[in-house]
Amino acid sequence: MIPKSHPRYESLRQRELLVEGYKAGATALEGLIAFGRGEAFDYLLGEKTPDAAVEAVRAAAAMLLAAENPVVSVNGNTAVLCPEELVKLARAVEGKLEINLFYRTEKRVKAIEGILKGHGAEKVYGVKADAEIEGLDSRRRLVDREGIYSADVVFVALEDGDRTEALIKAGKKVIAVDLNPLSRTAQTASITIVDNVIRAVPLLLAAAEELRAMDREALNRIHRSFDNPSNLRKSLSEIIHGLRSMASH
Ligand code: ATP
Repeated sequence: MIPKSHPRYESLRQRELLVEGYKAGATALEGLIAFGRGEAFDYLLGEKTPDAAVEAVRAAAAMLLAAENPVVSVNGNTAVLCPEELVKLARAVEGKLEINLFYRTEKRVKAIEGILKGHGAEKVYGVKADAEIEGLDSRRRLVDREGIYSADVVFVALEDGDRTEALIKAGKKVIAVDLNPLSRTAQTASITIVDNVIRAVPLLLAAAEELRAMDREALNRIHRSFDNPSNLRKSLSEIIHGLRSMASH
């Protein structure tokens, strides 16, 4: 148990969730390493949601609500960091939840399905992966025909650049959560929320609940007026500004 008074309590709590996730067979070892890359960027953000991410969250909520067939993609890291919020997000946008893994094994799929169902999910897609995304090799290409394969908007977090690109090439809009504004995923996605997934998903859920009553026209106006490259530049500027002010102290 980490005492709440520990100055790095929140970061250590997240590590503990991932270690438990690994022991439970849900999180891959590689997922722990990917998390470490994210943590370094979170440190640079002062472990706070940047203003740029708040704008991206609003556009993302509008895009998910306006979609015909939105899918919330879950992997071994997000399943242990924010399972309840992911289940609620899929429900709020009337979308599907799909397990989609970089390192897919049946054991991990089952473990993640158990976590999601334990947090209230009724149907979980991706348990059977009966379709393929073109342009990817090995098991990374496997998706659910009724889920990601036929989705128009896919929400992903801690994604890999190749797969983001393949989803875009397949004609889908991709909403990514990625702490690194320079990653290929961040640069390729339709909307990138530069924030820790543990903070971003609750914000996205709240925004979806707030915008839910809007008609499709109004939702489309919100997400169409969002410019991802310019928002990424804002996130980078916030990091640079934070570093400058630390350097001048
Ligand atoms: P890319 O292929 O997109 O350039 P990458 O190879 O740098 O990505 P991966 O190891 O494939 O990175 O994926 C990890 C990504 O997820 C990194 O960009 C990292 O910053 C991000 N990440 C890790 N933990 C979190 C988190 N908790 N919240 C948001 N993003 C995270």
